[in-house]
Amino acid sequence: MRILRWFLALTLAGILKAEDFTSQQVASKVQSDLTPKLSKGSFITFKEPPRWSTFKAPDPAIVVNVKSEFDVAATIMFCNLMKIPFLAQNGGNGWATTFTMNNNGVLINLAGLNQVTFSADKKQATIGAGALINTTIHAANNAGALVATGNCNCVGTLGAYLGGGYGNLMGLFGFGVDNIISMRVATADGKLQTVSASSNPELFWAMRGAGPNFGIVTSAVVKSKPATPNERSAWTGALIFTPDKLEQVVQAIQDLDLKPEMNVFLYFISSGPPSNDPVVLTTPFLYMGDATSGRAAFASLYEIGPIVDTTAVLPYDQWNTGGDGFCTRGPRKPSFGVGIQNMIPGDWRKVWDLYTAFQKKPGAEGSVVLLEAYSLTKARSISDSSASFPHRGVNFNAVAIAWYEDPAYDGEALAFGSAARDIWRNSDGLAENRTYINFANGDEDLLVVYGSSLARLRTIKKRVDPGNKFNQWFNIV
Ligand SMILES: Cc1cc2nc3c(=O)[nH]c(=O)nc-3n(C[C@H](O)[C@H](O)[C@H](O)COP(=O)(O)OP(=O)(O)OC[C@H]3O[C@@H](n4cnc5c(N)ncnc54)[C@H](O)[C@@H]3O)c2cc1C
Repeated sequence: MRILRWFLALTLAGILKAEDFTSQQVASKVQSDLTPKLSKGSFITFKEPPRWSTFKAPDPAIVVNVKSEFDVAATIMFCNLMKIPFLAQNGGNGWATTFTMNNNGVLINLAGLNQVTFSADKKQATIGAGALINTTIHAANNAGALVATGNCNCVGTLGAYLGGGYGNLMGLFGFGVDNIISMRVATADGKLQTVSASSNPELFWAMRGAGPNFGIVTSAVVKSKPATPNERSAWTGALIFTPDKLEQVVQAIQDLDLKPEMNVFLYFISSGPPSNDPVVLTTPFLYMGDATSGRAAFASLYEIGPIVDTTAVLPYDQWNTGGDGFCTRGPRKPSFGVGIQNMIPGDWRKVWDLYTAFQKKPGAEGSVVLLEAYSLTKARSISDSSASFPHRGVNFNAVAIAWYEDPAYDGEALAFGSAARDIWRNSDGLAENRTYINFANGDEDLLVVYGSSLARLRTIKKRVDPGNKFNQWFNIV
């Protein structure tokens, strides 16, 4: 105990810095000094919650599993006092290579803050910072309401929102950031505040697009919509095509007139063991669609002749089920995202060739290429300046994901992903390269992810986080 006091005294005097502590000392200090300040139900562990990708993942010395917003604030204050880094984790899906935690800091696991509640009129939901999309959709479905979320069950609901938030309902509701009414935020000084259009509006603007750079959101109040069971259904599923149909599929997606109820994804993906042959898969989605309207809306895809068709009417709580395999946690998955304006069949054939060359390696069969196409009419009816999210003008998002266990593949994986990105970027049809921050690799120039919002974000950052404590997610400096 005496030695711990000695460390604290030296830290306070500014003599010791984070890098002077061993991970064991960080862990001991957290256990001895922070534990008494935490609420009942919180706990401290050495085992970190699993992440979607282990490639360049943050490596904490210890994990504080919080149970209240006060625990979050207390942990920030403690880390500031100790001059040790900290990082929040919601779904653990962030794949960016910008994390710097290297066995020297505290991971604040938000999983215990996973409550999702609805107002009596079902027009507002309060989403806890630990809620995954799965939790949020189940709560909304039980309440008889719809909420904007992403399309994969394992992703953190607010983790996705804070970078923008694409999802099945965005043609009707806009981006996740467009649905936030207010947030409870623990800022770099360890203070808790409500952030909304009327309370700290500058921070409200900044956090809706660049949230992880400004504070830890402990909960958010978002818009929701009361919905009958029929209003909580969609026509969706998978259409699988043989690889020779790729150009036709790409052209069909380019030519689709996406109504607000519609979206479509395109995947290059393994057909599964034992052959693991790569296939071209699309997932059409029509909100409140049925066999007639669904097949009509996506007639151009059905006409190409899928070899597998699982499309059906699915209830709200099953819309994301088809993507559960994509949620698998663990292996290395360096990922390269990019925004593009047009689907160019020749480019997609080149990416296919790169993909199949990498995907056929033993152990890399799970690799994926992904394209997302949404109706953007609603999102574009909301002012560009309403939030720091800067990509309303981008039509499509594509990602190349190398998926494997063996670090010996790292070099080839990065070569595959960056070569695919180069192909897309070279004909992206944009004035300058753009990438949705939540799909970005981490090696991009900050202008690529923050666009024209960067200068204003820098000004706000200097005021709100002058010591740059929130520095591990596309660090705004
Ligand atoms: C399988 C999969 C499916 C995806 N599907 C979609 C989708 O449908 N739509 C979409 O828009 N994106 C999607 N994404 C991208 C996703 O939005 C990003 O990966 C996002 O960063 C994940 O958030 P998380 O909470 O799961 O991850 P985390 O790694 O926990 O968080 C990512 C970053 O945000 C910070 N953060 C998390 N929560 C908070 C908080 N409460 N306050 C402050 N900072 C916080 C973390 O510190 C970290 O820096 C998907 C990603 C994957 C891997």
